[in-house]
Amino acid sequence: MSRVLMVSSEAAPFAKTGGLADVLGALPPELNTLGDECAVVLPRYGAIDVSSAEKVYSGLRVYLGGGHYECDIYKKVYRGTPFFFVDHPGLYGRDGFYGDLYGDFGDNHIRFALLCSAALGVARYLFPTQIFHCHDWQAGLLPLFLKNFVTGDPAFYNAKTVFTIHNLGYQGLMPRARLWEAGIEDRFFRPDLLEFNGVASLLKSGIVFADALTTVSARYAEEIQTPEFGFGMDGLLRSRRGVLRGLLNGCDYEEWSPEADPYLVANYSAEDMSGKAVCKQALLDEFGIGKRMSRPLIGIVSRLAYQKGFDLVGTVLDEMLGWRDVTLVVLGSGEKKTEDLFAGFAAKYPDRMIFWHGFNNAMAHRIEAGADLFLMPSRYEPCGLNQMYSLRYGTLPVVRATGGLDDTIDAETGFKFWRFESWDLAECLRQALKVYADQPRFQAMQKTAMGRDHSWAQTAGKYSALYKELLDR
Ligand code: ADP
Repeated sequence: MSRVLMVSSEAAPFAKTGGLADVLGALPPELNTLGDECAVVLPRYGAIDVSSAEKVYSGLRVYLGGGHYECDIYKKVYRGTPFFFVDHPGLYGRDGFYGDLYGDFGDNHIRFALLCSAALGVARYLFPTQIFHCHDWQAGLLPLFLKNFVTGDPAFYNAKTVFTIHNLGYQGLMPRARLWEAGIEDRFFRPDLLEFNGVASLLKSGIVFADALTTVSARYAEEIQTPEFGFGMDGLLRSRRGVLRGLLNGCDYEEWSPEADPYLVANYSAEDMSGKAVCKQALLDEFGIGKRMSRPLIGIVSRLAYQKGFDLVGTVLDEMLGWRDVTLVVLGSGEKKTEDLFAGFAAKYPDRMIFWHGFNNAMAHRIEAGADLFLMPSRYEPCGLNQMYSLRYGTLPVVRATGGLDDTIDAETGFKFWRFESWDLAECLRQALKVYADQPRFQAMQKTAMGRDHSWAQTAGKYSALYKELLDR
């Protein structure tokens, strides 16, 4: 049994922009079920309501860059897991987690240095910790702080750190001149430490200083050691390969199961799929598109980031919507270029396509249930969760074979293409539509997909074993 404090900038259901939040909402409770003791620390953003939370610490002093910040710590128990919220209205009490309309916040290095340092305070006063499990660049400074600034403190005797890379594309970059504001002395600005192409990287801090590294699929663990997927850090990651593991994310079936999903107009299971047709009809009615149920319906729910590869989709939509009799529902927001692309096609094919701009969890569930196929043409995908949800909902994924998409989808459960090329995507979609036209075959694939088990229990067991290994050293 290990005492584990997870440090993250997101955790469902409190703060979510993507898969990181889903992991933090599901893995800690699963670890607690397995017998570890796990808690989570995250910022108290403006949107997080603490009126029903318990204030467990007032005026925690965090020293950074020659000054100090005072925070209050709130606690809520969710699924048997304590979640600690670091409250500093000046730094976190804004709309947006990382930025606003004008881009990233200019003080993110201070905001997330504060999170890391406050997490050490939580460990010291509220939750004695053996393992700090840090997620992505926002928690990347914690291993540096622990190894360099609190070494004499008995509260942290023998404490170990795990750093999980959910996405190497986000590197937490900041100018050298700002390092001191995050509490980091200039001596850490070295090529073998935080320096990265002339600036400092908080992600690199995690990679360099953590005792163990993980990423979210076996395939991605290999990929990030190559120049193609390494974002300039492949050499560093190769040098750390001895402590790097790929542990596939799980799927939170309490949240994502068609049998019991409260967002659906009808529930269904692999044994009785009648509810899925009702969900499809309801989705078509909701958006007022495609009166014919027999038309294949493709769903997309995603951040609209370059990584997700939707520019490629733009090259095949005239074929799909124009003459292959497909309907398409897209839910997402992000880069303007991609938003404009989808808005343009939705205007061109108003009876075939809907682009719903925004973030909407209930709608994400309805699309997973109502669609026949789910499209994820990612340039790279560390793990990807939506394809696993799709499997469970009998919505066959059409994916590019990269990272976790490659690890979770096979020929019995979905459709894959390898090269990031228009022709390859189009051919893969044609193949999917061909199978859709052969309903007995399509339904057999749906049944197989729905039977695949990606529950968290197995992966949580692997994390638990890793913690134990570190503490036994
Ligand atoms: P990433 O973390 O790169 O965004 P994942 O596939 O790992 O990708 O996780 C995405 C998560 O965010 C899923 O739970 C998905 O349903 C959710 N999501 C993404 N965009 C939206 C949106 N516009 N509305 C609702 N949920 C969304």
